[in-house]
Amino acid sequence: MINSIENAFGIKIDKLKKLSGYDNENYLLVSGKSKYILKKYPFTKENHKLVTAENDCLQFLNKEDPSIYPKPVSGIEGSLTEILSINKKKYVFRILSYIEGKFLGEVNHDKKLFNSLGSFLAKMNKLMIKYNNDAISSRIWEWDIQYLHLNNKYIDDIPKAENKKLVLYFFQQFEEVVFPKLPYLRKSIIHNDANEWNILTNKGKVTGIIDFGDLAYSQLVNEVAIAMTYGSYDKDDPLHYSTIILESYHKILPLKKEEISLLYYLISAMLCISVCNSAHSRKNNPKNKHALISEKNAWKMLIALSKLSPVYVENHYMKSLGFTVKKKKKVNQLIKNRHKIISPILSLSYKNPIAMDRSAFQYMFDIHGKTYLDAYNNVPHVGHSHPKVIEAASKQMKKLNTNTRYLYDIIQIYGSRLLNKFPKTLNKIYFVNSGSEASDLAIKLALSYSKNKKIMVMENGYHGNTQRCTDISDYKFNNKKGQGKKDYIIKVPMPNEFNSKYSKGKNGIGIQYANDAIKNIENVAAFICEPILGCGGQVPLPGGYLNKVYNKIRNNGGVCISDEVQTGFGRLGNVFWGYEMYDVIPDIVILGKPMGNGHPIGAVVTTDDIANSFGKGVEFFSSFGGNPVSCAVGLSVLDIIEEENLQENAKNVGNYYMSELKKLQKQYKFIGDVRGSGLFIGIEIVEKNTKKPNTELAQKIKNNLREKHILVGTDGPFNNVIKSKPPICFTKENAKTVVDSIKDILKKL
Ligand code: PMP
Repeated sequence: MINSIENAFGIKIDKLKKLSGYDNENYLLVSGKSKYILKKYPFTKENHKLVTAENDCLQFLNKEDPSIYPKPVSGIEGSLTEILSINKKKYVFRILSYIEGKFLGEVNHDKKLFNSLGSFLAKMNKLMIKYNNDAISSRIWEWDIQYLHLNNKYIDDIPKAENKKLVLYFFQQFEEVVFPKLPYLRKSIIHNDANEWNILTNKGKVTGIIDFGDLAYSQLVNEVAIAMTYGSYDKDDPLHYSTIILESYHKILPLKKEEISLLYYLISAMLCISVCNSAHSRKNNPKNKHALISEKNAWKMLIALSKLSPVYVENHYMKSLGFTVKKKKKVNQLIKNRHKIISPILSLSYKNPIAMDRSAFQYMFDIHGKTYLDAYNNVPHVGHSHPKVIEAASKQMKKLNTNTRYLYDIIQIYGSRLLNKFPKTLNKIYFVNSGSEASDLAIKLALSYSKNKKIMVMENGYHGNTQRCTDISDYKFNNKKGQGKKDYIIKVPMPNEFNSKYSKGKNGIGIQYANDAIKNIENVAAFICEPILGCGGQVPLPGGYLNKVYNKIRNNGGVCISDEVQTGFGRLGNVFWGYEMYDVIPDIVILGKPMGNGHPIGAVVTTDDIANSFGKGVEFFSSFGGNPVSCAVGLSVLDIIEEENLQENAKNVGNYYMSELKKLQKQYKFIGDVRGSGLFIGIEIVEKNTKKPNTELAQKIKNNLREKHILVGTDGPFNNVIKSKPPICFTKENAKTVVDSIKDILKKL
């Protein structure tokens, strides 16, 4: 090889050292006192065309500003590329001048250096705006941000489901926000790869740039977005560092508002391209470490960006460049507007309500761009805006959405998948649109099956908002303003272990409460109860309780209903359904909330016998219940729980969360009880000495947590139990944030 190159380029080669890491082969070539870079590519027409274009661009830049860009060296016949045969294979060779300097990746980063990076790139871009090249302009490939979608095919090469979901999330954000705007942005040929191993520095300043192999005719703003990405992705405060690059770039080549507004998405797109290609390279060639260098940092920054609102980032960049940001309406005004059309009977959370704008997984973002850690909402079970749920819904919506009077596969597939989660005896399913509808239907089923007429309900129980649901929800009918208990309702005392009226005794608290419950069991068609009483203040049922009550109900011709609207779908960690905690099998199960991750869907699961008896009555039909889109959404939720191992996560993070809260309980007597299972937790706030409910303090903690950007709720008969039931992708770090913040609040009391 050496002889052929010496002959072709007329250069005597004293030393040739292979440089590691690049896709193509690169060598350091030493000839006398001069150093060069020799580049070798397998010969293909496409490669030849592109390196010829690259040389052309480098010649253009060198004419304008020599010494900071590699200069192509011509062969003895004047050509900048030579096609040579080595061992019967054809290769393209080219030689470039060697640019001295230390890589940006190997020096300390400070403001001066990053300032010089921004201005360096802006100066280069100002030149390149004048440059045209058809070979570059017609290039369409994965490393150009405008063609992000071409990386779709690599997403499945990412091994961890929780990483995959992040990438899918940013892909969807890009498609939604950036894609429609791309055609209207300025375009130019850009270097397109200003990463820390392509930028050269000397004495704390950027002095050169190499590797023009990624040249692209792309949106101009992509150049600075790429530099901002690689300049800040290893930093704990990426916004700070990326802003320095942006400001200095903008001083020389001013950006337009519409370009700046997209930077959040362009940076995340760049990171996605990087991690997709790393995953793909790892799969194809696990030994190529170079491709993986940037992977760790790219994930770090993607995670950091998922916690930041795009609005916050946009405002930050806009302000730093001296642009004014759009003022949002004041929350007070929004409340006034709301009350003009929406009754205040629909209450708002917090003394200082939050105007929400968007969300990602366990984070919610308000209209001002503030991030809230969502430690409260259990409807977005697998995470807010989960891309797989969105994809499932929109795909099915584009294909077919109809009702259960027609045959379609997805109801069959989803129905079977869901029923597989239950014991064999629970083998019939009815789809509805909410937990309330499911509760309502469950009572209908029970009344049609049992000859009895009364419904036995739990003190502080809540089952929904319809009239029937209100009848069976002590939480509502027993409210000061409530309708009162109807005659067909039997109410049984809440079997709480904390501040219980019973001491353990030889039978245990559960049996004593069960004995209370079964005293008056005649003519009961159904007993309905949640496995952990949510509105009761996250109260788990004591051991032995359900078993005894269920037996008695059945012996008297009634059926047992478990309301799993809050507790189902793996949230409790150890079990998928709440009733499994107590070694019982209900006759009817009610599902809702988490089932569709925010899409309105509910279901009733029951036995053959009950379904048969109901089947003899009037037709049951729900216009939307069981529609294909809802089924697709529900199916995606089941898939995600499995793929991301979320039940296990609920268990591990829940155990950690609870143990940290229990440590806090030891320090602060205001915490009377910490209870629950998995990520369904209650913290009962009490008077220090008397252990009586301390509603005021619970409200104070809730409101103070809101000021610290953490969402929780309060509930229980005295509204003194802090409820935490976050999306089950919640992490230990998230749990620690909540516990530390509660500690902080209690410390200041
Ligand atoms: N059952 C329980 C236990 C619930 O918590 C709720 C809602 N909070 C419902 C039923 C009613 O569900 P939805 O609001 O979806 O109608």
